[in-house]
Amino acid sequence: MHAAAVARTRARNPANDSRFSHPDNRLFNRFCHISELDPSGSLRAIAMKQLRNNVIRAGLDALYFSGAHHLLRPILAGVGAIFMLHHVRPARDDMFQPNQHLEITPDFLREVLAHVRALGVDIVSMDEAHRRMRERDFARRFACFTFDDGYRDNRDHALPVMRDHNAPFTVYVASDFAEGSGRLWWVALERVIARASAIDIVRDGATLSLDAHDDDAKQAAFQQAHDWLQTLASDAEVQREVSKLCARHGVDDAAIPRELCMSWPELRSFAADPLVTIGAHTISHCNLARESEAEAVRQMRGSRERIEAELQRPALHFAYPYGYRTAAAAREFAMARELGFATAVTTRPGMIFPENAEHLTALPRVSLNGNYQTTRFLSVLTSGAATAMWNGFRRVNAA
Ligand SMILES: [Zn+2]
Repeated sequence: MHAAAVARTRARNPANDSRFSHPDNRLFNRFCHISELDPSGSLRAIAMKQLRNNVIRAGLDALYFSGAHHLLRPILAGVGAIFMLHHVRPARDDMFQPNQHLEITPDFLREVLAHVRALGVDIVSMDEAHRRMRERDFARRFACFTFDDGYRDNRDHALPVMRDHNAPFTVYVASDFAEGSGRLWWVALERVIARASAIDIVRDGATLSLDAHDDDAKQAAFQQAHDWLQTLASDAEVQREVSKLCARHGVDDAAIPRELCMSWPELRSFAADPLVTIGAHTISHCNLARESEAEAVRQMRGSRERIEAELQRPALHFAYPYGYRTAAAAREFAMARELGFATAVTTRPGMIFPENAEHLTALPRVSLNGNYQTTRFLSVLTSGAATAMWNGFRRVNAA
């Protein structure tokens, strides 16, 4: 990480504030209390979001400094973990990076792999994880590495690191992104706000002007616009609204998938690497739970058929876009099963326990979040203590 990026992370990180740097039961209580809220839907206010991030960090710090994660490990660590990643690329120096949680550096990935290897954990493909869960073969703990969306940096920056550790991994491709016709609206929104000094959104029939004149204002505007987009009825509407903002502020959102995502020809050679598995991630990267049943099935089946036709290999594994409770739940889990996917992963936090074998299309993951790229958090994350706190110490959360 660049020095400026480190300084930025330190400045934002309450762990560097002495009030937060000691184990403190109040922090555990706050952490547990807040984590009961739906991470996607209920925490509307910016202040609450900031607090949540701060409390997660403080909670991870508290776990780390108290050593509690070592004590909790035997009960909580489970039989395996599926790590969730998005971008892997060198850090940027920009202060305004609202999507930073979606990227880690190649160096951090290298540290994670070394940490997992040092724990004596097998790094396996999703096929092998599926076999172990089906056959209840839990003699050795396993870890899977999964990357969502199909970013080109997965090839350019992640693959070399994964090769050094001979570590297989899965990339879930949204077929419109590979086609070059999709919309990565969260990237487009970041680019609009980065160049605008204010943006207008229409909420409840009234035009609301969001200040974006400096980095703090941009951060707040992004959160507010993001929350507003979550209230729209469908992903098509989200894309329409973001495209309007792009047109107004001179951002070419149609060019973003070609710029960031692997095309079909690129995916063909990438998929030929024996370490690589390609999974499906819908056609348009939609929130499946907001779609009709027919459309949700079309999105899931259609993306798999497209990948299989383009790459001439089976796509047996699936990742729900967004993956949280209001984007993937019982209906989608049943659909994935009925469509014949071997596994499907959510973004719900958790380690893999033997009981997860009964819910192969509702698997939890451990996010390698760009806001927490600190090696000392790794032992906390891989102990399962942090995700167990999220889940109120329930081992399986598949409803
Ligand atoms: Zn995604």
